[in-house]
Amino acid sequence: MPDIIRPIAKNIIFPLIILREKSSTLKHLAEMEITQFLSAEEIRNLQLERLKKLMVHAYKNCPFYTKRFDEAGFKPEKMHSLEDILIIPVLTKKDIQRNKETIKDKNFGKDMLIPNKTGGSTGSPLHFYLDADRLFSRQAATFRHNRWTGWDIGVKTAALWGHREDISGLQHFKARLRNFLVDRRVILDTSSITLEKLASFKLQLRQFNPMVYIAYANSMYLFARYLKETNSTDHHRPRAIITSAEVLDPEQRMLIEKIFDCRVFDRYGSRETSVIASECDKHTGLHICAETFLLEFIKENKPVASGELGKIVITDLLNYGMPFIRYQIEDAGIPAGDNCSCGRGLPLMKMAAGRVTDFFVTPDRKIISGASLTIYLIANTPGIAQAQLIQEKIDEIVFKIVKGDNFTEESLKFLKNEIPKYFGDSVKYQIEYVDQIPLESSGKYRFSISKVDPAEIF
Ligand SMILES: [Zn+2]
Repeated sequence: MPDIIRPIAKNIIFPLIILREKSSTLKHLAEMEITQFLSAEEIRNLQLERLKKLMVHAYKNCPFYTKRFDEAGFKPEKMHSLEDILIIPVLTKKDIQRNKETIKDKNFGKDMLIPNKTGGSTGSPLHFYLDADRLFSRQAATFRHNRWTGWDIGVKTAALWGHREDISGLQHFKARLRNFLVDRRVILDTSSITLEKLASFKLQLRQFNPMVYIAYANSMYLFARYLKETNSTDHHRPRAIITSAEVLDPEQRMLIEKIFDCRVFDRYGSRETSVIASECDKHTGLHICAETFLLEFIKENKPVASGELGKIVITDLLNYGMPFIRYQIEDAGIPAGDNCSCGRGLPLMKMAAGRVTDFFVTPDRKIISGASLTIYLIANTPGIAQAQLIQEKIDEIVFKIVKGDNFTEESLKFLKNEIPKYFGDSVKYQIEYVDQIPLESSGKYRFSISKVDPAEIF
């Protein structure tokens, strides 16, 4: 049966919403559809122009950067290459936690900025602001990258997602109506998973028949394993699957593609940035959204050569409300040139291998997403600078915590109250305070480590 809502959603309802919200999303989208096919050199020139404008703005309007640039001897108006910013120290999560108000543009009132927060796969919670236009350009970038998979406005999608707040929004009638008519997305909550839930995902997907799935990588893999273990043949197959929020291993990709008989489009993004890079239909690497972000891959404060692993340092070229300049996002990646047969000049990158967040398994056969816990448990506990959760056995969890400035007895009380809500009453847990959390040999920081295989519940 033809999908009659789809053209109405795309051509009538969505443009009406844009008009009502005075949104610049479509303007940004139209621009980005063109700029993605500029040559690599033209894109670098565009980045330099935007970077210089941002640096001049930040120096003038954000007290934190005025001081930082002065101390580094950096003169924004004299910039002539992208590498000039190498003399500015990286912006750490701690810098943001401590200087939120001075990193922000002093001319922006709080009501002109949109607050947001992240648990981060690194377990260091972060609160920050976006200006309104940046919200629209982020939406536009997401739309553009979605289109590479065949997903356009009005198309039905499913989200196997570990962030419940995206779902609770749908409790309101208006939000449900909007979802029915425009977003057309079924959300399958993967923050905690049981066998019954997996069976219900299978049923809902068959009934809803979405064209594209967007999923936490580990959740998608777990669902694929469930379908394999239960010898499923009658499950739904989408046209494409986007994996995000967690690192996708090659072995995970292989199984997902086999079970669902479609290609996986891996994506790299974060809550503080939205989509940073994603695969096109050639799957040669992830195209960086270079009109909005400058990515550096750094080792010992020097850019690495193409093909080498470096720490990712990111500058958001368009968030004037609270500029992130040389933000150390605590991920690692590999610059991979700019030669893709799709014709896009957007540079390519690859993510460093290795999982950062594992699932936990509870004695009552529930699977808890480590990535979701960073948002719900860690980001909501006041004063945690960093955390790591380790499950050695099914009924034993160790919480390693680096205390931040605001960590008090109340924080501990909050944690003790919340932990059983996720893990149940029979799990023994231990809280250890540490000065720092060591990195893995890969240079990565792992938020959650579990020695228990979630497939044990199948
Ligand atoms: Zn490409």
